[in-house]
Parts: sequence; C-alpha cells; structure tokens
Amino acid sequence: MGLDTGPDAHKVTIVPEAEIAGLMTPEAAFDAVEAVFGAMARGGAYNFPVIREAIGHADALYGFKSGFDRESLAMGLKSGGYWPGNAERGLTNHQSTVVLFDADTGRVSALVGGNLLTALRTAAASAVSIKHLAREDAKVLGMIGAGHQSAFQMRAAAAQRSFEKVVGWNYHPEMLPRLAETAEELGLPFEAVSLEEMGAQADVIISITSSFAPSLMDADVRPGTHLACMGTDTTGKQEVEAAILGRATVFTDEVAQSVSLGEAQHAVAAGLLAEGAITEIGKVINGDHPGRASAEEITLFDGTGVGLQDLAVAAAVVDLAREKGVAQAVAF
Ligand code: NAD
Repeated sequence: MGLDTGPDAHKVTIVPEAEIAGLMTPEAAFDAVEAVFGAMARGGAYNFPVIREAIGHADALYGFKSGFDRESLAMGLKSGGYWPGNAERGLTNHQSTVVLFDADTGRVSALVGGNLLTALRTAAASAVSIKHLAREDAKVLGMIGAGHQSAFQMRAAAAQRSFEKVVGWNYHPEMLPRLAETAEELGLPFEAVSLEEMGAQADVIISITSSFAPSLMDADVRPGTHLACMGTDTTGKQEVEAAILGRATVFTDEVAQSVSLGEAQHAVAAGLLAEGAITEIGKVINGDHPGRASAEEITLFDGTGVGLQDLAVAAAVVDLAREKGVAQAVAF
C-alpha cells in the first residue's frame, strides 16, 4: 500500500527552531506556563518520570521529559540533552525537540524546535512566581548568573513589577556584560554588586547558574525578598544556602522534583525543610493557597523545570503557527 497523501491524509505540523523566535512571545509562554501549573495543582496534568542518561558517547547527557495535560489535551515529550562539544561545531550545547501527540488517537501531531522554547518556558516559570509571590512594591531585581538563560529570565521578570534597577553578580565576572546589556535593552540601570550588597538591595532575586555549591548565603537575605531559584535541576546542584529554605515559605513547580533534584533537595536532606511544607505554585495560581502572607515573609520558588511546561509552550507555538498560516504540515 502506498503512502496516503490525499486530502484526508494525517498531517504533522512542523515548527522548525528557526521559526520559533518569530512566533512565540514571552507573554504567550507566560500564559501557557501559568495555565499548566494550575492544571498540575488541580491534578488534571501530570509529568511522567524523567529519563536522563550519560550515553557514553560525545560526553553527552540525553533524555526525555514527558507528560499529559487532561485539560488542554497536550501530550508528548521533549527529547534532548547536553552535548558539550557542540560549541566547537557552532551549535548550541543544549539541544531539544518537542514531539506532540493527539491525545484522542495517539498519532503524532507536531514536531517543534525546543531550544528557544526551553529558555522562554523557564523564564516564564520564574515570572509566574514573581507575579504571584513577590511584593507588589518590589523595585530592585537581583540577578545571580549571567549565562544563556539569564537574559530571558531578566526580560520575563521585568514585565511583572515596576522595577527601577537591576543588580547582578556572576561567578565569572567577565560574563556580566550580558546582564548590563539586557538591563539597558529594558531601559533599567544596572549595577554589578557583591552578593552581600545584592541581598541588601534586591526585592526579587533570580538565581540561574549551574553551580554545585551555594552562592547566596542566608545572612545576606533580608525579610520580604522573593527568590526564584531556577538553576538547580539536577541532584547535587545548589545555588543558595539551605538555611534560606528553612526560614522561607517554599513553593515549587513539582514537589517530587523539588525534593530530589531541585534547590530544596539540600534543605530537606539537612532536616531544615519538610517535604510537606513545600507548596505547588499552581495552588496559589488557583486561589487554593494565599501565597505571600506578609511584607516581611521570604518567599522562594524552586523552579525545577517540568515536561508539561515544554508541552504547553510547544502547543501554544503550534497554534500560533497555524493561526498565522506559517505552519508546515506534512502528510504522515
Ligand atoms: P550557561 O552555561 O550559559 O551559564 C552557566 C551560569 O552558571 C553562568 O552564569 C556561570 O558563570 C555560572 N556558574 C558556573 N559555574 C559556577 C559556580 N561554580 N558557581 C556559581 N556560578 C557558576 O547555562 P544556562 O543555559 O544559563 O543555564 C543555567 C542553569 O540553569 C543550568 O544549571 C541549567 O541546567 C539550568 N536550567 C534550568 C532550567 C529549569 O527549568 N529549571 C531550564 C534550563 C536550564
């Protein structure tokens, strides 16, 4: 039997990596991520176990993040990982692709470039936490980390409060110009500071590093701060001193990931934080948890990164591609 390419043939929508920038906006990513966090907290969406393997070739880490949202019917996986040698080939070290399936039939429905989407959905997660947990009068944004993700994080955060200034610190100071340039793009003054000075000035602090030891110390964090810890997505990584989580009210995207591979892993292991004291941010989004209770409370969002975020932004970009008539549909 030949391939059915007639008018009724099943079509797969392809949105190549190069098309994503022209289609997806930080606002659309924010809406998609906020909605799926809400669905997760209602029990309507769940992530499947993550697979991540050192494959013994090209020094690469490769795996899958997947899940199903019964509310939006987004179903599928993000496949990819980390290839350290890619930079020498002029390629991004992190590579990922999202595959979406039709929840009614199981047929593949879309193939979507996942690199830019990963940055947008990660930035959207911390922005969602700022919207729901930071003090309304937050004026100074602190950035710990100046790598690839940091610019996306700063842009998304800036949309959530009337920030008047950005202060930044990075382990590798030669990377700080990325923060200065992004702040300039946003029309905000930028100051490179010590971590102590950041704690004294910042109302909101985003950490987005690949560190395996704490950078921000408990003594440097003042009451009322909101922290979004976004870099720790692997067992062993750590960005802030565990004691901060002991005195903060801790929120996360998914509790199971938070305690095993997120920032909370260390505070839980040290007995400073109980797993049961960590709240899914979706509960705040859904109005089932009040979120910040006072202007003095320290709130901390442990953003571990879940597959459902990837599916949500990929589904959104497929819709945008179809709406704008730029979707490539291939009979499959
Ligand atoms: P990158 O390689 O571009 O930048 C790494 C950053 O970490 C730089 O600021 C670097 O100076 C800093 N750093 C490196 N070693 C350090 C150390 N010992 N102490 C303190 N800082 C150190 O990486 P990126 O793409 O910007 O990603 C940053 C982190 O975010 C990574 O850990 C990545 O795995 C994580 N990430 C998380 C999610 C999520 O959903 N939570 C999504 C994407 C990336």
